[in-house]
Parts: sequence; structure tokens; C-alpha cells
Amino acid sequence: KVDVRGVHKAFGTLTVLDGIDLQVRTGEVTVVLGPSGSGKSTLLRLINHLDRADRGFISVGGELMGYRRSGDRLHELREREILKQRTRIGFVFQNFNLFGHLTTLENVVEAPISAQRRSREEATAHARDLLTLVGLADKADAYPRQLSGGQQQRVAIARALAVRPEVLLFDEPTSALDPELVGEVLDVIKKLARDGTTMIVVTHEIGFAREVADTVVFMDAGRVVEHGPPARILDAPEHPRTKAFLEKVL
Ligand code: ATP
Ligand code: MG
Repeated sequence: KVDVRGVHKAFGTLTVLDGIDLQVRTGEVTVVLGPSGSGKSTLLRLINHLDRADRGFISVGGELMGYRRSGDRLHELREREILKQRTRIGFVFQNFNLFGHLTTLENVVEAPISAQRRSREEATAHARDLLTLVGLADKADAYPRQLSGGQQQRVAIARALAVRPEVLLFDEPTSALDPELVGEVLDVIKKLARDGTTMIVVTHEIGFAREVADTVVFMDAGRVVEHGPPARILDAPEHPRTKAFLEKVL
């Protein structure tokens, strides 16, 4: 369902992604691990087409991100078309990124109404279901500043789900949270995993990876160093860089 093929990205002379291949099947959870600067956030940004690959292709649900095929030629999509395409993907950031001047419910209905042209009634009913799913049905009218970090991140997850995305991307969703709030956010992500939500999760939470991931990908210096089921990558890594990383974080 998500297919990353031969993706390269450089910023000036700095190569950040050096030939990334990654496939995530529908209903599966891929956890991406790797040291700071290895290119994890850049990879997620490219999948969401917030930034553009220098080489290689990314498709989501069989649709090439950022391009339209006509015959054997590729045409770059216009900004408006890219915005529409991006609603196929939900993105949850480290710092929640909620709209501070909108209530919880307004945050969740914004994209379905403005980007997907769904009716306010239908979007609102769906948003209330999603707030119930993340345990915040009673916070619909609260503003972000009135919520804890864990609650804000759960609103952000509901907002990401509101566009009915084909895949959810998480970039270190718990690393800005106080330790006692990490569990409530991971529990929501675990519940989504059980429901068969397709997800790519960048995180340093190894226990979560072991419990939830179908595949663990270890990145270093812009490459996928190794990937496989969590039991193999986390408990019997083959590559010295994976071993060194796990020794540090465990
Ligand atoms: P972290 O674990 O610290 O979040 P990461 O694996 O997510 O790290 P990236 O944020 O993808 O790493 O960054 C990879 C490299 O690319 C870093 O060296 C970073 O400084 C560089 N980089 C990222 N974005 C840009 C940019 N817009 N311009 C220049 N360099 C960038
Ligand atoms: Mg990052």
C-alpha cells in the first residue's frame, strides 16, 4: 500500500536519504528506528510530499505522490492537487501542531470540511466518534491550551484519522510528552493497530515496537540498514550499527 522505491534526498551537499526502499502492506504497522540525523523525519515528509525526492518514487494506495502519469510521461501535480492527494495520508507530529484558536472538535472537522468538501453534519458526527475512540468525547469544546500534552496528542490522532487516510504517519509522537503521559498515547496507537490501521511510526519506544510492529526498520545515515520482524531486529540484530543503537536505547 505504501511503496518507497530508490528514494534519494540531499540538502545542498548533505545526502540525507541515500536510496531508500520501503514497502508497507495494508493493515500493517512499520516502526522506524534510527539515530538522530539518520533521515527518519525526512522520509516521512517525503511520503507525505511535504518535500520532494531528488530521485525515486513514492506511491500510496497505488497513486504516485506528486505526479500524474499520462502515457509514459510524468507530470508534476499542482499545489492544489497535491493538497488533495495529501488527504490520503494522516500525519501526527511530535509537537501536536493543533490549531490553537480552534476547539478540539473544530480541529478535527477542519480538513474533512475544507479539503474534502464533506458536509459539516457528517464531518461532525464522524469527529465525535473519533474523539470517543481516543477517549476525549468530553473535551470536544476545549481549546488546546486547556488540554494536557497527552490529550493534545490524542486530538492530533483523531484529526489525522478524520480524513479517512489510507495510512497514518507518526513522527516521534510521544517524545515531547512527560513520561506519565506516554502510555495513554501509545495505548491509542495500539488500539488503531489492532483495528488494522496501516501505520508508519518513527519512535524510540522499543517496547511499543516489539508489541505492535509487523516490521521494524533500522535506518542509519540515510539508508535502511536492516529490516524484519521485531523479534529478529530487536533481539537478534545482525548489523553492528543496529546492535550499537539498541544497546544505547535499551
Ligand atoms: P531525529 O531523530 O533527530 O529527529 P531524523 O532521523 O528525523 O533525526 P532528519 O530530521 O530526517 O533526521 O534529518 C536528517 C538530516 O537532514 C540531518 O542532518 C538534518 O540536519 C538534515 N536536514 C533535514 N531537513 C533539512 C533541511 N530542510 N535543510 C537542510 N538540512 C536538513
Ligand atoms: Mg526526526
